[in-house]
Amino acid sequence: MRYKTIIGLEIHVELMTKTKIFCGCVNEFGGEVNTHCCPVCLGLPGAMPVLNRSVVEYAIKAGLALNCRISDRSRMDRKNYFYPDLVKGFQISQDDIPLCDGGYLELELEQGVKKIRLMRIHIEEDTGKSIHTEDESSLLDYNRAGVPLIEIVTEPDMNTPEEAYLFLEKLRSTLKYIGVSDCKMEEGSLRCDVNINVMDTETGQRTNITELKNLNSFRAAVRAMEYEEKRHIELLKGEGDTERETRRWDEVEGKTVVMREKAGTADYRFASESDILPIGIEDAWIDEIGKDLPELPHAKKKRFIREYDLPEYDAGVLTQSRELANFYEETVELAKDPKQVSNWVMGDVLRRLNDEGLDVEDLKFGPKDLADLIGLIDEDKISNNIGKKVLRDMFETGKEPGQIVEEKGLIQISDEDELRKVVEKVLSENEQSVIDYRNGRDRALGFMVGQVMKATRGKANPQMVNEMIRNIIEE
Ligand code: ZN
Ligand code: MN
Repeated sequence: MRYKTIIGLEIHVELMTKTKIFCGCVNEFGGEVNTHCCPVCLGLPGAMPVLNRSVVEYAIKAGLALNCRISDRSRMDRKNYFYPDLVKGFQISQDDIPLCDGGYLELELEQGVKKIRLMRIHIEEDTGKSIHTEDESSLLDYNRAGVPLIEIVTEPDMNTPEEAYLFLEKLRSTLKYIGVSDCKMEEGSLRCDVNINVMDTETGQRTNITELKNLNSFRAAVRAMEYEEKRHIELLKGEGDTERETRRWDEVEGKTVVMREKAGTADYRFASESDILPIGIEDAWIDEIGKDLPELPHAKKKRFIREYDLPEYDAGVLTQSRELANFYEETVELAKDPKQVSNWVMGDVLRRLNDEGLDVEDLKFGPKDLADLIGLIDEDKISNNIGKKVLRDMFETGKEPGQIVEEKGLIQISDEDELRKVVEKVLSENEQSVIDYRNGRDRALGFMVGQVMKATRGKANPQMVNEMIRNIIEE
């Protein structure tokens, strides 16, 4: 490949602490505008910020899960810039001594494991939100001002939009696992900016970096990166290069648009935030936080392969979220066959959840219900196909599978006399198929079984029907 794409990411993640980073205001998404505010998060003169210990704890958790070094001494700095949603005229952030340093995440690619290095993770406050109205005025909601953030900056180690996508997926699942954020892009609790440029490997020439903003989903991020990849290659092929710039993704037009030329870091006039004491972190505290970390996705995946004898693919899918993994494990405890449970969870359950954009937490039924359903199939009370229908009902009503089977009269017909009546009727109506079968056409048997299933609305025991038809014809 002549052209090499270079991608780095900057990700802002809102932490789920109870209160904001420098005051006691509630940290909650939404709420009536300007009701989660106080003099501190409104930046009123004389109001003094106090660093929330939980924010530091959550950031350390994230740092440990992402293999960072935790700084034993760190501090807050002022990052100066003017924007209406930033009341103080500066953001309290961290400049040269971030809380977490280095770190990495490993991606499992087809060609092997690839390490994506992190530069740093620092803590900072979120800004308020501008609401632009139809009459072209702007309103400001400061509920979000002072919500704690971690900013995660990667090295430019990704070389395709797909790698960046996998990184984001893995990062999201890791942060959700450790419970520091819900990482909902649609609510802005995970926001991602992309730095991208392209190098001509023959001439060594590279384009100026473009910063991409306004990416509202991972999908949008991938599309924007693919668009930029092509645009940068054209720049290399053509006359010259544009300046370093910030562009936003226009989802409707499917293209990126220039927002502004990128500001250099010098513009921010960083200065230490002298209203907040330096942060000292003892090793004992880091150890304590480390001990409380839950099993991370990668370790869980390995354990699933070992403990449940699952294929790697299944284990990967089932451990994508902690909730899904728990749902699976709780079902397995009640059902017998781990692979069978995996098939149900990955198949009918996940497919439906994905179709409807729901998470496993949104299910109206629990692991016990799914285990019961699998039990009904194992005991030949219902067929696999009826089982799928019952599951659809469980999705909608949350009723127990046993109750659904009973109410809808779905119990499999395994009564010989009852089945024989239906089978004989089908055979008498399909004489040609009987002849075909006698002449060695096996497909005719399948057709006749199908007719019996149809006549019983799927309730006949298919193995019994199969045998019965063969016996009758061969008699
Ligand atoms: Zn406040
Ligand atoms: Mn930031």
